[in-house]
Formats: sequence, C-alpha cells, structure tokens
Amino acid sequence: MEYFPFFMRLRGQQVLLVGGGEIATRKARLLLKAGACLKVVTLEIDPELEQLVKETGGAIALREYQSGDLDGVVLAVAATDTASVNERVSCDARTRQLPVNVVDSPALCTVITPAIVDRSPLVIAISSGGEAPVLARMVRAKLERLLPASYGRLAGLASRFRDAVKEKFKTGDERRRFWERVLNGAVAERVYAGKDDEADRLLSQELSNQRDEIGGEVYLVGGGPGDPELLTLKALRLMQQAEVVLYDRLVSDEVLELVRRDADRIYVGKRRSEHSMEQPAINQLLVDLAQQGKRVLRLKGGDPFIFGRGGEEIELLAEHNIPFQVVPGITAASGCAAYAGIPLTHRDCAQSVRFITGHLKTDNPNLSWPELALPGQTLVFYMGLLGLEQIAQQLVEHGRAPTTPIALVEKGTTSSQTVVIGDLSNIARKVAQCDVKGPTLIIVGEVVSLRHKLDWFTPERQW
Ligand code: SAH
Repeated sequence: MEYFPFFMRLRGQQVLLVGGGEIATRKARLLLKAGACLKVVTLEIDPELEQLVKETGGAIALREYQSGDLDGVVLAVAATDTASVNERVSCDARTRQLPVNVVDSPALCTVITPAIVDRSPLVIAISSGGEAPVLARMVRAKLERLLPASYGRLAGLASRFRDAVKEKFKTGDERRRFWERVLNGAVAERVYAGKDDEADRLLSQELSNQRDEIGGEVYLVGGGPGDPELLTLKALRLMQQAEVVLYDRLVSDEVLELVRRDADRIYVGKRRSEHSMEQPAINQLLVDLAQQGKRVLRLKGGDPFIFGRGGEEIELLAEHNIPFQVVPGITAASGCAAYAGIPLTHRDCAQSVRFITGHLKTDNPNLSWPELALPGQTLVFYMGLLGLEQIAQQLVEHGRAPTTPIALVEKGTTSSQTVVIGDLSNIARKVAQCDVKGPTLIIVGEVVSLRHKLDWFTPERQW
C-alpha cells in the first residue's frame, strides 16, 4: 500500500489554496464541503471561487505565493498552472512537515485526494495511489449506482440510535447482529421509501423487543418488457432482498434470474386462457405472506400500473395496513417502440399517444372508435393480437385512412423480438402468414413509417 488512507477533520481549520483557476475552484468546493476555512493566494481569481471564499468567511490574497502563507494552516493545496510555484509550495510544506497536495503531480504530494462517493455521514474514498485515476473513477461510478442515495439518511438513523443500542447490547457481537438485521431489513426499507419517522418508530420497537408487531411488506415491482437491462436500480435492489416472489408469465426468464437465489418463487400464471390463480386469490396471498412477516416481491411485466392490475393488488394491502412500495417499470409501449425504432410522438404527425386495451372480447371495453380514428395521434393496443382484424377494420370504418401504417411487435426488447409492418388494410393478412404468438403490441399511426430510418435493434429472427 503506497498511501495510508485517512479521513482528515477540516471543519474550522485553515487550509492554504494556491491558485485561482477552474481546478482550484473544484478543490475549493470539496474542501468547503468538509467545512475548511480557505486562505487563497493567487494572482488572478475565478469569480466563482471569489464568491465561494467570501461567502464562507475565507481570505483572498491577490499576489505571489510566499512561504509565510503556510503559517497557521493544517494542509496546503497547490493548483496553479505554473510548475515552479507548485514545486515551491510542495517543498516549503514538506520542510514544515505539513501535508501537501499538488494537483496532477503525485510526485509533489504527501497526500492525495481519492474519488469520493458521498452519502454523508457515510463517505467512501477510492484511490489508485495516483496510478490509475480513471479506474478509480469507474469504481466510484459503480458504487454510486449500487448505493441508494438515501444511504446517508440511513447512516444518520444509525448514528441517532448508536448510544441506545450500546446501552442495550453489551457485547460487540450482539450489537453487530442487531445492526445487520436493522440495516438489511424493514427499517432500512422505510428509510429508502422516504418514511424516516416510521423507520425511527420501528427501530425503537426493535430495541424494546416488540418485534412481533413488525410484519412483512410487499414490493410491487415493474419488471419491464423483457430485456433485463431495462430494470430500474430500485427494482433490482428489491428483487435481491425479497424472500418470496410472485411472478406471472410476462416476466422474462432473464429478469427472473436476477431475483435472490434462495427466494421462494410462486408462479401465478395469467395466460389469456389459463388463469393459474384468480386475481382475488393473488391479492389474498400477498396479504397472507406479508402477515407472516415476509418481504414479498410482486413482480409484474412492464409497469404495474399500466394494464397490470397493480392497483387492485395493493388495495387489499392498504386495507390491512400492510406497508408496500410501488416501483414503476418500462411499459411495453415504451420498450417495444424504442426497440422497434418507432418514436411514439412526433412534432409533425403525432401530438398525442394513447395506450388502449385490445382485449375486445372479455374486457368488452367501451372504446370510442370515432375518437380513436382521428388523425394526429399514435394508438398503442395492448393484448390486441386476437382483436387485430377488428381493430384495423373499426379504425378504417370510422375514418382513419386504410394506408395508415401499423406495426405489430412480438416479444419486444428480447432477443426474439419480431416486428411485422403493414397498413390498416393488409396487416391482418400479413400477420396471419407469420407464426406470431405473443406477447404482442400493436402500434398504429404515421410514426410507424419512421422505422425504416430509425431501426437499430436487429435480433436474429426477422420477418
Ligand atoms: N403491465 C404491462 C402490460 C400488461 S398487459 C406493461 O406495462 O407492459 C399484457 C400485454 O402487454 C400483452 O398482451 C402485450 O400486449 C403487452 N406486452 C407486454 N410485454 C410485451 C413485450 N415484451 N412485447 C410485446 N408486447 C408486450
């Protein structure tokens, strides 16, 4: 290890910053975040830096650096573009055994600044000892994605309860086990959901051994249209911590792969004809599992609030006061449109877009065909494969041009995506000639004709 990692307390301490340009400003911002009091020596100063220093009660000297500037400071930072000045600052500081950092010159530094992930009070510092700063920044980017932004608030909660926990658990082992349970479980989840008061209350309960009051909770999560990379970070996090998962046919295998390995998996079906489990039974199962104290993931294809019955499923949870979170997913319309190269709106030809159920038989929707046939809009039909012929016919009968382009996207965003393009007059015939099964999405409107320019996703199977 070339450098020993330290965190240095700078609050209220004087730090010398030599230089007044853009890089010096960046350093100043960081030092000020840690509460340093800046003494800036520079010939010229960036107006932003000037303001920052003035606002925070620091001092500015517009002149050459001199060694006396190091009097009274705990750290020196040189960020000028004149090598000889940087060298002098470094040399003087080392003579006085003061820590010194010179921007972009590891050889002149006794301390270096790491890449930082800031979830204060939790701070992660990553350093490559100046050897591979880009790699260090890449690691930082990974950690940024991995750690919820609310980790800072979670750390704050831990710090508020620190003394009480110490009081209650006498050995380090007991305390560690307690914190592991709290920081991994329902308490942490409340913080991520923005319910800090509830988290405080739960944690107090845990401390006073009233644990049996703590039930489970349900995460209603949108798993997107198929491509696992379209999951949100929040979806992924909850998928990795749930103990039971209820999923249906629309959830792709690749997405399911990402659920925690040892979670119980319950298939609840929902093929058009095969309702493996009736909706009321699913709603009840969610309640039962949560009441057993389980963390339950209800994983749905696309977005749970778009033709997903997500609302019905959480209604019963709300009635039973079971905590739940809803995580949106990329709905089939967005996913299929993007991966088929069909923008859903366009300034010239589509000023609005509608998501419509195409399940014409059983849902018996009261669709207003004259309205749907108006120009200037894109129509997206979910569950429309069986009704395709009728949809096209109705639109033409009510005035939409028979030449209006239409696309049928099967298994959108997956490696088996297939797109059939036609117009209202011929699409049913074209689709009948292909072996299309589903799930399929129908997009109607002039925007479909943009596909020939914008198509970028080309999996192997094409018609
Ligand atoms: N909640 C889901 C929709 C459920 S309804 C969402 O937001 O996407 C089921 C319908 O969604 C299917 O009949 C089909 O029309 C559409 N669908 C879902 N995933 C799809 C995919 N990968 N490709 C094409 N259509 C899809």
